[in-house]
Order: sequence, then structure tokens, then C-alpha cells
Amino acid sequence: MSKLLIRRARIIDPSQNLDKVGDVLIEKGRIKAIGEELFELEAQVIDAEGTILCPSFVDMHVHTRDPGQEYKEDMKSVSKAATAGGFTTLVCMPNTNPPIDSPEVAQYIVQKAEQIGICRAIPAGALTKGRKGKELTDFYRLKEAGCIALTDDGSPLMDSLLMERALKLAKQLGMLVMNHCEDDRLAYGHINEGYVSSLLGISSRPPSAEEVLVARDCILSYRTGGRLHVQHVSTALSLEMIRFFKEKGAPISCEVNPYHLLFTEEELLSSGSNAKVNPPFRKEEDRRALIEGLKDGTIDCIATDHAPHAPWEKGLLESSMPGMIGLQTALPMALELIREGHISYMRMIELMSCRPAKLLGLEDCGNLKVGSKANLVLFDPDREWYLKEDTNLSKSRNTPLWNKKLRGKVLYTIYEGRIVYRDV
Ligand SMILES: [Zn+2]
Ligand SMILES: [Zn+2]
Repeated sequence: MSKLLIRRARIIDPSQNLDKVGDVLIEKGRIKAIGEELFELEAQVIDAEGTILCPSFVDMHVHTRDPGQEYKEDMKSVSKAATAGGFTTLVCMPNTNPPIDSPEVAQYIVQKAEQIGICRAIPAGALTKGRKGKELTDFYRLKEAGCIALTDDGSPLMDSLLMERALKLAKQLGMLVMNHCEDDRLAYGHINEGYVSSLLGISSRPPSAEEVLVARDCILSYRTGGRLHVQHVSTALSLEMIRFFKEKGAPISCEVNPYHLLFTEEELLSSGSNAKVNPPFRKEEDRRALIEGLKDGTIDCIATDHAPHAPWEKGLLESSMPGMIGLQTALPMALELIREGHISYMRMIELMSCRPAKLLGLEDCGNLKVGSKANLVLFDPDREWYLKEDTNLSKSRNTPLWNKKLRGKVLYTIYEGRIVYRDV
């Protein structure tokens, strides 16, 4: 059925400063009307009383593992997990095998997601060939092939001269340079430097490992005018520097991983390697500073850094791979920040949808304007559920939230006017 009528939802769209109860009519993949008591004889009707309707989420940081590590995740499973989490646009990190350093791999990502057809995958091209940090890739050809940004994520770009060149080149092409900011000489260990690393006797990755690269990249962005996006910022000092350079007018944006907003290094004591991630969980004072950054606008968006790993890769802390899955848990985690009184619904939706869409220059998502493509999500902020065998749609299960009670559930995800996820 090509017509869909969603009735009596609380409609929230920060792009229009809209927050009211009403109906949304979708026709031929686009938003046809927003109003009260809309009527359409042939439409499929969703009674949405008591639920929230907003633009579907845009995730600037996803590891699809496809191509090359499909035992962890593939385009189909990541698409399903994404839509179950309310996301319809994913920016895919280039640390695949082969990496996204050629137009062929970039096109493979775009086309594979199109074939599955339930959400959009946009590749982030590698900054350097083979993600080795030695030689820049051909940004122009990557852009032609659909890449929206450039990063070597999984690894930092350590060479300052290459970073400067990358920012200048990307500026000419209108592309965004993203960096995983952790100096790999300082970040030789496994978890945050602090009480837990001393207690467990595990080598650490100090906050300074992140901060020195954040400082360098902010300076280079300020000096070149090239657009920089700092990935998964995790320390109070990183945030202060980003705030400082933003105020000076540097074209800088940054994202935060929801786990860094709700967990500290102490989580390692109960969740073990399921709480291991790079950059690592920090101290309470860092967590509080990140929440302040959400409130004052220093942080632009929430991005999941969805990073699936097989169970055998998540053994002992020292030997396990870093990262956790996060597409299905992002919404309940963000809602927790609302329940704790830190942010409003309007701000949450801005952080998860409108702002990332804007940073990426995407006009067909991140808003509910009449005439726009109908990319939206309907959720119940209070429904309780568990992420476990029968609800998890990722191929992996590495998260400290496994089998824990979550509050807030996506009921419907709509992509280009089609229902691509429905809670049953
Ligand atoms: Zn990273
Ligand atoms: Zn990542």
C-alpha cells in the first residue's frame, strides 16, 4: 500500500521547531501532510496515540564488517539492527577487508545496502591507502563513488603533514575529514589509565593519548579551514579544546558514543571485555563533562560506533577486540539522559537525526517537512524490553547491556515511505 496515515502521535521535529500531537500522511514515499484529524480513504492507518514520531536517526559511525568479516556482521544483519534501532542512514567505517580505499569497495557498500533496501549505507572512504597512514587515497574518485567523508577509523591518522594535506584537499572537494583521535604510541594499552587499570594491573590508554591528537587536529582545522569531525570524544579536556576552537570559528564538529555518556571505567569490573572500547570508558568527571557538552551544544551528535565482534574475540580483557554493538540500544540509552533530566526530546532528536544529517549535507533525512522523503521513526519511550537472543538482530552480542532491562522501544521505522521495521 503506498499510502500511510499515522494518527495522534506526538510529532517532534527540531528542524521546524515542531512539537505537537497530530497526524502524518505519507504518499509515494514522501510526507504529504502534517495536521490534525487527517483523513485518507485508501491509507493504511497506524494508531500512534501515546507514542513519539520523529525523523529517523542518522548514525555517523557504524562498522558494518562487510566486506570481509561477515562472521561478525553483514550488510543485511546491520541493516536489520539499524532499522530496529530507528536508524535509516548509516555512515560506514572503512576498516573492512578490503578497506574502503577504492571506488570499487565504496560502490559495493552502496549497492549492497540498496539491494537489501531497508536503509541507506553511505561509505566513509579511507584517508590513506590500506589505512596504513602513509599515502592519501584518491579523495575525488572516492567522492564520485559515493563516499561522504574520509577517516582511517579503527586507527588514527598519525602523520601531521598528511592530516594537513587531507584537510586542505577535502575542503576543496566539500568533504568531511573524521579522525579517531588517539595517539597510537601513547595508547598502547587496553583500558583507561586510572583506578581500574591499577587494580587489575592492565596496561592503559591515558586520556592524553586522545587529547594530543584532538589538539593537533583542531589546530590544523583552524589553520586550513578544512572541516574536521572528531569521532567518539571521551575526555573533559578534549571537549574543552573543541569548545575553544569552535568559539574561534574553526569548522569543527564532534560526536559522542552513548556508552561514554552512561558508563565509566568501573563498568569493566562487572562487564569485563564487553566494556572494552577505544577510546576507553573514562572517569565520572569525564562522563559529566560529556553530558555538559550535549547541553551546551559543543557535542554535535550521538553516534553509536556499532562495532560487532564474535564471542571468541571478546575473551580476556587484554586479548579481546575493542568495541560494542550499539544500534538497537542507542535510543533507550539516549532516553535515559532525558529521564535523568539532562536533555529534552527536542535535543535528543537533534543529536541523533537533524544535526548529523546537516553535517553530512543530507536533505532527505533529519526532518519531517512536507514534501521530504518519509524517513521517520515511531517509538514508545517507556516500553521495557531486553536485548537478548530473540530481540537482537545483529550477528554479534558484545555489549554490557546484553540481557539487561532497557526502557524505550522503536515501534515502527519507515524508510522512504515503507515500513521497514515493526515491533510485534
Ligand atoms: Zn574509532
Ligand atoms: Zn569506530
